[in-house]
Amino acid sequence: MIRSDVLVIGAGLAGLMAAYTSAKQGKKVTLLTWGEGTLTVNSGTIDILGFDENHKRVNNPLQGIDNLPADHPYKKIGRQALQEGLASFLELTKQHELTYIGSMEANQPVVTAIGTKKRTAYAPLPMVLSEQALTKKKIRAVAIKGLKDFYGDVMIENLKKSFGPDKDYGVIPIDTGLMGGRDITIQDVARYLDTPQGNADFLSQLEDLDQDTLLVLPPIFGSHGHTVYQTISQEMKATMVETTCLPPSVPGIRLRYAFRDELRQLGVDIVESSKAVASEIEGTKAVSVIANSASNQRRYYADRFILATGGFYSGGIEMRDFEKPIEPIFHLPISFVKGEDQWTNEELFGSKAQGYAKTGIETNDLLQPVNKEGQVVLDNVYIVGRNLAGFDFCFEHSGNGIAIASAYKAASVGMGKEA
Ligand SMILES: Cc1cc2nc3c(=O)[nH]c(=O)nc-3n(C[C@H](O)[C@H](O)[C@H](O)COP(=O)(O)OP(=O)(O)OC[C@H]3O[C@@H](n4cnc5c(N)ncnc54)[C@H](O)[C@@H]3O)c2cc1C
Repeated sequence: MIRSDVLVIGAGLAGLMAAYTSAKQGKKVTLLTWGEGTLTVNSGTIDILGFDENHKRVNNPLQGIDNLPADHPYKKIGRQALQEGLASFLELTKQHELTYIGSMEANQPVVTAIGTKKRTAYAPLPMVLSEQALTKKKIRAVAIKGLKDFYGDVMIENLKKSFGPDKDYGVIPIDTGLMGGRDITIQDVARYLDTPQGNADFLSQLEDLDQDTLLVLPPIFGSHGHTVYQTISQEMKATMVETTCLPPSVPGIRLRYAFRDELRQLGVDIVESSKAVASEIEGTKAVSVIANSASNQRRYYADRFILATGGFYSGGIEMRDFEKPIEPIFHLPISFVKGEDQWTNEELFGSKAQGYAKTGIETNDLLQPVNKEGQVVLDNVYIVGRNLAGFDFCFEHSGNGIAIASAYKAASVGMGKEA
C-alpha cells in the first residue's frame, strides 16, 4: 500500500511549493503529477498583484490586497501566509543559485519579449532593470539567428516607446551555430550557454560593446540558476538584461529544476506521468486517490490531500457541457459566473476580467473546499493555486503569488504552524 502523510496532486508552482512546505515540516510527502503545468510557459516573475478589480494599477501589492473583495483568494490566504510563503520561496531559490529581487510593497518594471514593459513584485536577477541599466545611452536588442518568436526589429520599435526617444537603438545579430533542420528555441540557446564553448562563442561576438550599452536579450543564460548570467556579466563591459519570454520558458524551467532538486533532497516521492482520476471518500474525509499511468492503476492513501491541478488551464477543472464544470478527482463543488454573456470579453487583455477565468473551487479561510452554504465538503482536502475560485490571474497579474501563498498556507494549516 502507498501511504503518505500528504499527497500533493499536480506539479506546477503551487504543487511544488505545497510539497516543499510539507516536506520541510518532516512529513512523508508524495507528489503525483500528470504533466509539467504552466511553469514551462510562464515568465518566472512572481506577480503578486498588478491591477485591482477595476483594472487600476496597483503600485503596492501588499496594500492592494487589502482592497480586494472578501471572496478573493488573497483574503482567505491572508497577509501572514503571503509574507511567510514568499520568504520561504526566496530561501529555497537562493539555495539553488536563483536570485529573486523585489518587494511585496512595490512593483518594478521588466522588459517583455516584445520590448514593452510589464510590472512585477519579484523578478529573477537577470531581468532586473537596475538604476544603472536605465541610464545607459545605447540600447541594443540581441537577435539570435533562427530563434523562434523573438524579433529584433519588433523589439527595437517597442523599446523606443518603453525607454524614450533620446537613446541610440540598434539590433545585434548573434549566430550560435545551432540552426539545423528546425527553428531553435530559447531552451536550446540556454543549453548552449551552459557549456564553456557556448560561453566563449557568445562573448567573442559581443566583446566590442562599451559600458554605455544596455543589451536586451531573451532569457538564454543557462538552464539552471543564475550563475551563467553572473559569470558572463563579469566578463562584459555592457550591462545585460533578460526579457520575459515565450514558451518554452527558461526562467520557469530554472524554477522547476530548483524545486525538483530540493524535493529530492527532502525525500519527496515524485510520481510523474500519472493522472489522478478518482478518489475514495468516507464521510467528510478523503481516504485515497486513484491514478492511472501508462502501464497501471494505483491507489495513493494519505492523511491529507493538496489539490494543485491548475484549474481550467491544466485540466484540474473540466467543462464538457456549458455551465456544468466538474472537478474530476473529488467531484468538489465549482463556483462560476453564470450566463454566456458574462463568460468572456471580446478584448482578450481588456479592462474587465474574463468571467470564465474566475471559475474555481470555493474554500473557507483554511482553504478547505466548501459548498454553497459554506460547509466544508472534505475536511482533509486543501485547494491551492489556479484551482481557487474568484480571480483572473491574467487580468490582475497575481498567478505565481497566489500559487506560492496558497500552497504555503494549505501545507501549514494544522501543522502547529498556522499561517
Ligand atoms: C502563458 C502563461 C504565462 C504566465 N505568466 C505568469 C507570470 O509571468 N507571472 C505570474 O506570476 N504568473 C504567470 N502565469 C500564471 C501562473 O502560471 C499560474 O497562475 C500559477 O503558476 C498556477 O500554478 P498551479 O500550480 O496552480 O497550476 P499549473 O501550473 O497549471 O499546474 C497544474 C499541475 O497539475 C497537473 N495536473 C492536472 N490534472 C492532473 C491530474 N488529474 N492528475 C495529476 N496531475 C494533474 C498538471 O499536469 C500540472 O503539473 C502565467 C500563466 C500562463 C498560462
